[in-house]
Amino acid sequence: MIEVQNLTKNYGNYQALKGISFSVKKGEILGFLGPNGAGKTTTMRILTGFFPATSGSATVAGFNVFEEPIEVKKRIGYLPENVPLYRDMAVSDYLRFAAGVKGIKKHDIGDRVKKVMEDCALSDVSCKLIGELSKGYRQRVGLAQALVNDPDVLILDEPTIGLDPKQIIEIRKLIKNLAGKRTVILSTHILPEVSMTCQRVVIINKGEVIAVDTPQNLTSRIQGGNKLLLKIDGDSNAVLKGLQTIRGIGKVEKREASIGSVSEYIIEIKEGEDPRKEIAPQIVKNNWGLLEMRSVEMSLEDIFIKLVTKE
Ligand code: ADP
Repeated sequence: MIEVQNLTKNYGNYQALKGISFSVKKGEILGFLGPNGAGKTTTMRILTGFFPATSGSATVAGFNVFEEPIEVKKRIGYLPENVPLYRDMAVSDYLRFAAGVKGIKKHDIGDRVKKVMEDCALSDVSCKLIGELSKGYRQRVGLAQALVNDPDVLILDEPTIGLDPKQIIEIRKLIKNLAGKRTVILSTHILPEVSMTCQRVVIINKGEVIAVDTPQNLTSRIQGGNKLLLKIDGDSNAVLKGLQTIRGIGKVEKREASIGSVSEYIIEIKEGEDPRKEIAPQIVKNNWGLLEMRSVEMSLEDIFIKLVTKE
């Protein structure tokens, strides 16, 4: 549905995008992740026809963003980071206005506005002034204006920024409900948002794509070997030494906090090995107590930091 190839963007001498490529399948929710300044907004603005790229190509629903911008705009709904809402307008009036600007035929406007107000749970506040709404409701109005032309593609720039936890859950639910029918690019720097909402992630840093994968694959791929957490009651120097003699165990690290003689250890397991069976006998032999043994997964946050700070 969306194909981006070798996109570059220069702001004067500064190259904000250094040739990024990725694609988004129909019906997919793609997480677009990167630290501040990575080039997320720049990419989205190019895709929505807000400004041109310096070089490269991009197509949306088969239309070239640079050669057929009007066809592309018809098929895209865009929720910018700061939605320019008219605070003195009532919700339904504003959505009618937005529908008109987007070229929806006059006799269809009423139906479309009614539909997006239902989809975004705005019907109860349709007569309220936008300026009187909570931030969560205002964000729903932003989403409704992006949806009013019934676009195939939705581009959402940091849609949950500044919302409280309850509002965040509501907006995420809304976005998830939109999937399947529509293709969504969701830019965010909130990592749990990606794990919860997106099927695939593109991570960009300093204008370059540094990873493209599912959140699950990213976690296992970058993690490399597995890690185990052990909670053991016993003299920590002896434990550290004893664990290291077991086949298949790499680095062993004791965690800072200990309670009495109980400490936690993170052990790295060498590729293709499974030393779990040998751990318990070793502990029994030394008369230590095994209080916990479980594998530790790297969070997307750990991975993100690892990727972005690699160089
Ligand atoms: P992100 O959305 O990932 O935070 P942006 O796309 O907004 O990143 O910005 C990418 C880089 O381009 C940043 O270093 C930013 O300072 C720079 N930049 C963005 N817009 C402009 C502009 N209009 N003029 C000059 N530099 C810009």
